[in-house]
Amino acid sequence: MSGDHDVVVCGAGAGGLAAARALDAIGLRVLVVDKQRAQRPVAKGEVLQPGALRVLRRWGTDRLLTRDGALRLGRLVVRGADGDPVMTLDYGQLPAADNALLAHDHTAILDALTAGLGPGVEIRRGVRATEALLDGSGRVVGVRLDEGDGGGGHDVHVPLVVAADGIGSRLRRAAGIEGRRSDYPHRLVSFELTGADHDSEDFSAYLTGRGLRLVYPLPGGRQRLYLQAQPGELRGLDEDGFARWGEQAVREVPALEGLSEAVPKAAATRQLFPVARFLAERLAVPGLALVGESAYAVHPMAAQGMNSAITSAASLAEQLAARLTPSAAPTARPGTPQPPAPEAVDAALRAYEEERLPVLAHTARTSDNAARMVTDLSWPGRLLGRRAVRCTGANPRLLHAITYNMAGLGPRPLTPLDRLHQIGLLPDPRAHRVPSV
Ligand SMILES: Cc1cc2nc3c(=O)[nH]c(=O)nc-3n(C[C@H](O)[C@H](O)[C@H](O)COP(=O)(O)OP(=O)(O)OC[C@H]3O[C@@H](n4cnc5c(N)ncnc54)[C@H](O)[C@@H]3O)c2cc1C
Repeated sequence: MSGDHDVVVCGAGAGGLAAARALDAIGLRVLVVDKQRAQRPVAKGEVLQPGALRVLRRWGTDRLLTRDGALRLGRLVVRGADGDPVMTLDYGQLPAADNALLAHDHTAILDALTAGLGPGVEIRRGVRATEALLDGSGRVVGVRLDEGDGGGGHDVHVPLVVAADGIGSRLRRAAGIEGRRSDYPHRLVSFELTGADHDSEDFSAYLTGRGLRLVYPLPGGRQRLYLQAQPGELRGLDEDGFARWGEQAVREVPALEGLSEAVPKAAATRQLFPVARFLAERLAVPGLALVGESAYAVHPMAAQGMNSAITSAASLAEQLAARLTPSAAPTARPGTPQPPAPEAVDAALRAYEEERLPVLAHTARTSDNAARMVTDLSWPGRLLGRRAVRCTGANPRLLHAITYNMAGLGPRPLTPLDRLHQIGLLPDPRAHRVPSV
């Protein structure tokens, strides 16, 4: 099989499929492997930010999603338990082409990415990457793949391996890349609601004494609901227990009263997610790049994970395209392609890391701040978080910068002075000076 492909992408989640799409577009021959035999429906990664949508527009993927019923959401709103907005990120203030989020089922997003792949991409499911192959200099020169047929695996040699195998990435560890992971002290329980009496086109995060309640619409009149839970709260709950626990959690929030009948009926749709943040110290080593959660994971409430995975995939392809000289780049199909030269690949990987790592570090920081503002249940955390949400919500200049950052159109870093304005320790004389779009 060596020689048939220029790249092996390990993992067919949003990160791996975006990488395959981007590398296919620059003429590389891509093999995608995924250990799962079939995609499983999962209640994660349903909301796309404008930064990712810019890339998906170039690929025609956003058209497929819209045709398939994806919903445009115009605002990301933090609300009190009574439903009143405390902080509103209004995407309407962004440039016209970027003025909405797009929501659809995760599998619909994966399907739309897959539908755009050309004949230069082969996907094999039920195949696990078990090892990175190294040459004498330590460069990654391929992967060992196990098809689960008891054959003990076989080696595929390629100039580039993309590790898109998720937060627990085996390939990242095999390549010796370290990272910092920390787990949030809560979990999220998702419910998929149908027939709920809750009409909103916003992505709404409700602040409550027991943590975050997050609601947004999905196609087909459905609503996604996430409830923050302390691990002990859920111990021993069966389906009926989850039905009662979920109903109680929304009944405590006056603004969510309209969901209280739909939640127990949706108990069978529940999914439980541990939540963690992670940032790898490097995004690449010679011969191998990280894309998606193998490199970077943030709290889901900021809806940033796929955004970064998709924009990182596009960045990797741009760096490669800039360095694959005509003699090193594959000739156009269907001629006989030349594999890209390892030196050109490694130069592109260095540029990829240099360009992306600061962006991911910035997004990781802002997502963590945003998540702690709305999920920290300790009394000092709650006090500070509520204050920060209120002061930020009343400061149009900060709201403008944060909307750009969340949309993936930044980074527009906040200064230490901005942080003091955010927690109300200093009045902001420039609060109403909003830059024009
Ligand atoms: C509850 C929740 C809600 C979220 N909501 C949003 C949102 O609204 N918007 C947003 O942008 N992000 C959101 N995220 C984050 C987003 O889902 C992730 O960032 C994104 O799905 C990560 O994609 P990935 O391809 O990097 O990883 P994954 O989706 O984890 O995919 C990794 C793939 O690799 C495969 N794999 C693993 N190991 C191997 C191996 N050894 N060999 C072969 N294959 C392997 C797995 O089977 C899997 O298919 C959410 C996350 C959670 C938990």
